[in-house]
Amino acid sequence: MDIKFTHRLSFKQARLTVLVGFALGTILSLVQIGIDYASENAAINREIQSLLDISHNPASRIAYNLDTELAQELAMGLLRSPAITGAQISDNDKNTLASVRDSPEVGRYRALSDFLFGETRNFDDRLFFNHLPEQSVGELHLEVDTYPFGARFLQRAEVTLLSGFVRSFLLTFLLLGLFYIMLTRPLVRVIRELSNSKPGDPNPSRIQCPPGHKDDEIGVLVDAANQQFDAVAREIEQRRAAENRLTEYLAQLENIVSARTQELKAINTRLSQSNQELEVARRTALEMAQARSAFLANMSHEIRTPLNGLLGMLALSLDSPLNAEQHQQLSIAHDSGKVLVELLNDILDLSKFDAGQLELEHIAFDLSTLIEDTAKLLSQNAAPNVELTCLIDPAFPALVLGDPTRVRQIVSNLLSNALKFTRFGRVDVRLSLQENRVRIEVCDTGIGIAEEAQARIFRPFTQAGAGITRQFGGTGLGLALTRSLCEVMQGQLTIHSKIGYGSQFCAELPLPCHTPAIAYKPLCGRVIAVSASSSGLSELLSHYLPLWGLEYQRYSLGQSLEGVETQLLITDDSACLSELRPSINAPILLVTAYGNFMPSDQVDTLAPLQQNARPLSRLALYQSVQLLLQKNDDESPSPPIDNVQVLLRARILLVEDNPVNQLVAKGMLSKLGCEIVTAAHGGEALRQLERGDFDLVLMDCNMPVMDGYETTRQIRQHSRWQHLPIVALTANAMPDERERCRAAGMDDYLAKPFRREELAALLESWVAKKYTS
Ligand code: ADP
Repeated sequence: MDIKFTHRLSFKQARLTVLVGFALGTILSLVQIGIDYASENAAINREIQSLLDISHNPASRIAYNLDTELAQELAMGLLRSPAITGAQISDNDKNTLASVRDSPEVGRYRALSDFLFGETRNFDDRLFFNHLPEQSVGELHLEVDTYPFGARFLQRAEVTLLSGFVRSFLLTFLLLGLFYIMLTRPLVRVIRELSNSKPGDPNPSRIQCPPGHKDDEIGVLVDAANQQFDAVAREIEQRRAAENRLTEYLAQLENIVSARTQELKAINTRLSQSNQELEVARRTALEMAQARSAFLANMSHEIRTPLNGLLGMLALSLDSPLNAEQHQQLSIAHDSGKVLVELLNDILDLSKFDAGQLELEHIAFDLSTLIEDTAKLLSQNAAPNVELTCLIDPAFPALVLGDPTRVRQIVSNLLSNALKFTRFGRVDVRLSLQENRVRIEVCDTGIGIAEEAQARIFRPFTQAGAGITRQFGGTGLGLALTRSLCEVMQGQLTIHSKIGYGSQFCAELPLPCHTPAIAYKPLCGRVIAVSASSSGLSELLSHYLPLWGLEYQRYSLGQSLEGVETQLLITDDSACLSELRPSINAPILLVTAYGNFMPSDQVDTLAPLQQNARPLSRLALYQSVQLLLQKNDDESPSPPIDNVQVLLRARILLVEDNPVNQLVAKGMLSKLGCEIVTAAHGGEALRQLERGDFDLVLMDCNMPVMDGYETTRQIRQHSRWQHLPIVALTANAMPDERERCRAAGMDDYLAKPFRREELAALLESWVAKKYTS
C-alpha cells in the first residue's frame, strides 16, 4: 500500500494551509512595508526640515553679512549630511554666496529607491531674522538625494519579506510533519490492515485502532469497519449454514428421487405386465363379444324359426272357426308368443348396444305418418276408457332424415308403456319441431311414476315398483333401450311424472328436415263437433279444421243443437246420436275406439254416418271431412289407391325351405288376398320365375341347394327381373344381415317371426308402389 507523496492527505492539507498562510503573510508583510514606506517618506522631509531649521539662523546672519567665507563653511558643513548633494546660499538679490555640490551615492537599490521616493528633492528656506520675519535677507537652497533613505527602507522591506517566506516554509514543514503523524500515518496503518484482511474470511482479525485515535474520526472509522466486518462475517456464517442445509436437503432429495425412481421402475414393470394382461383380457373379451354376437345371431335364428311357425300357426288357427274357449286359449298362446318375440328383440337390441354394433340409417322418411301408423297399430292395446290422440304440428316437415326403424321403436316403446299404464283418460302423442330438434312427446293420464323411481326405470330390467310386473307384466327393458336409442341418435329422453296424475316422456332427436311441410288444399264449409272440451278429439279438430279453411264450432255433450246450421257433425259419443239426429240433417262422422264400431242396422238409421277408429290420422280426417262435405269438384285430390284391390291381385313367389314357415307365410298371404306360388330353394325359384309373372318375391336367406343371396344375384342378372321387388325373410336379426341382403340385390327385409300387419305393410309399400308407378 504505497501512496505517492503528493497524493497524501498530509501533503494536501499542509500545502493548502501553507498556501493560505503564505498568502496571508505576504499580504501582511506588504501592508507593513507600505506603512514603513509612508513613514520613511515623511522622515525624509522631517529630517531635511530639521536641518534647515538648525541652519536657518546662521545662514540668515551670513546672508545678511554677505560673508562668503562663512557661507562656504556652512555649505560644506551641510554637505556632510549623507542625503545633501547640493547646498547654495544666496543674498536677497539672488547673488550666490556659496554653492557646493556632491555626487549622488550609487547602490544596488538606486533604481527602485528613485522610483519609490524620487531621485532628488529640493528644499528652499527663505532667510530672515526672527524679529523681522517679513524682511528676507536671502535664501538657503538644499538639494537632497533620497537614496540613503530609500536604501535603508528597501533593506528593511527585504528583510521583512524574506523572514515572512522563511516563516512560511518552516511552518509548511512543521505542519507536514504534524499532519503526517496525526492523520496520514494512522490512516495508512488502518488502510494497510484493511487491505490485509480477506473479505470472505469467516473469522476476520479485528483492525487495531492506532494509539491515541480511539475517540477521534479514525477511531470511529476503525469501529465502523470492525462492525461491518462482524456483520459480513455473520452473514457469511448464515449463508454457509444455509448452504450446508441446502446441500443436506439436496442429498436427501437425491435419495428420495432415486428411491421413487426405483419404485416407479417397479410400478412400470408391474404396469406393463398388467397392460399385457389387460390386452390379453381385452382380446379375450372382444373375442367373447364376437362369439356372443355370433351366438346371439345363431340363437335368434334358431329361436325365431320355430317361433315364426308357432305364431303363424296360432294366427291361422285363430282365424278358423273355433268355440269361445278354444279362441281364448289360442289368443293367450298367441299373445304370449308375441311377448316372447318382443323380449327376444329387446335382448338382441341391448346386446347390439353392448357390442357397439347398432348402425343407424340416414334416409328421408315421413315421421308424422310413421307416428300415426304406430299409434294406429298400438291402439288395440288401449283400455276402453282411454282416448289415444296423435297431435302433429301442422308445420312439421313432410320428410325428415334419420333411421325410421329406430324412431318407430322409440315411439312404440313410449306409447305402449303409456297405454299399458293408463286405465282412464287420455294418451297423446305430440310431434313438433323445436330449435331444429324433433320433439316427440308421449303424455298419459295413467298411474304416474314416483320421483325416486324416475332415475331407476332407465336401467335395464328395472321397473318403478315391486307390484308392476305382477299387475302389468313387462321386463323393464323398453325404457333402457329407448334412452340408448335416443342417445345413439345424439338426442335425449326426458321424463316428467307425478304419481297418480300421469307421465310425460319427451324424446328430442336432431333429425334434419328433408322436405318442408306440405299444405293441405283448403276445404269449404261449416263443421260442428259434439265432444267434451277436455277430449283429444276436440283438441285435434280445433287444431286442423280452421287451418283447412273450415268454419268450426264445438258443443258440449248434452248441449241442445236445435236450430244449429251445419254441413257436418263430428262426435266421439255414439250414445247421443239418436237424440241429435232429429235436429241435425248433416252427415255425421263418428270417431270411436278400436273395435267399438256401431252395428250396421244402427248406422243405417242414423245415416248418412261414417265411422272412423281412433287415433284419427290427419289424412283420414281430411279425406273423411272432404268426402262427407261432398266436395267432388275437379280440383279435389284423386281418391287414394285402393290398396286392398292391389293386394288382391298381387302374385307372390314365396321362396322358403322350412315347411312350417311356408305354411305360415302362405296362410297370411292368402288372408291378404294374394296368389301364392312356393319354391323350396333358389333353383326352384328361378324355374318358377321363368314360368310366370310375379309382383313380389319373398326370399328366405338360408336354404339348401341355393341360398337366398345367390338366388337374388342370379335373378338380378336377368334384365327382365331388374325391378322385380325381392324382400328377404330372415331369422338372423343382426345388423350386418340387412346390409348383406342389400348387397345381394334385395330391396327390403322382414325379420322372422313377422306379424300379419307387418307383412301387409310391406306388401302395401312394394306392391302398391309397383302399381302406382
Ligand atoms: P316394462 O314396461 O317392460 O316393465 P320399461 O323399461 O318400458 O319396461 O319401463 C320400466 C318401468 O317404468 C315400468 O315397469 C313402469 O314401472 C315404469 N313406466 C314406464 N312408462 C310408464 C308410464 N307411462 N306410466 C307409468 N309407469 C311407467
